[in-house]
Amino acid sequence: MLAKLPKIAFIGFLFFLLSGFTEHLPSVPAKSQTTYVYICVTKNSYAYHFDYYCRGLKQCKGEKRKVTLSDAKGKYERKICGYED
Ligand SMILES: [Zn+2]
Repeated sequence: MLAKLPKIAFIGFLFFLLSGFTEHLPSVPAKSQTTYVYICVTKNSYAYHFDYYCRGLKQCKGEKRKVTLSDAKGKYERKICGYED
């Protein structure tokens, strides 16, 4: 029977419609959704922040940069901010 196929197609279509409402986000599949964090780009900085208005980040005297979580951990060798863990 063809009964199952249209239902799956319909659900897929619903997801397609829903994804249209988040078009301000990068159009990546949900599984590989990128998390962005904020870091302070100075020599003494060691943390990354989920919250741009975090009091830890407010102490930043240098440039505040938005980076991916994986870059913050890897490329920049940052750890989660003490106020946010
Ligand atoms: Zn923080």
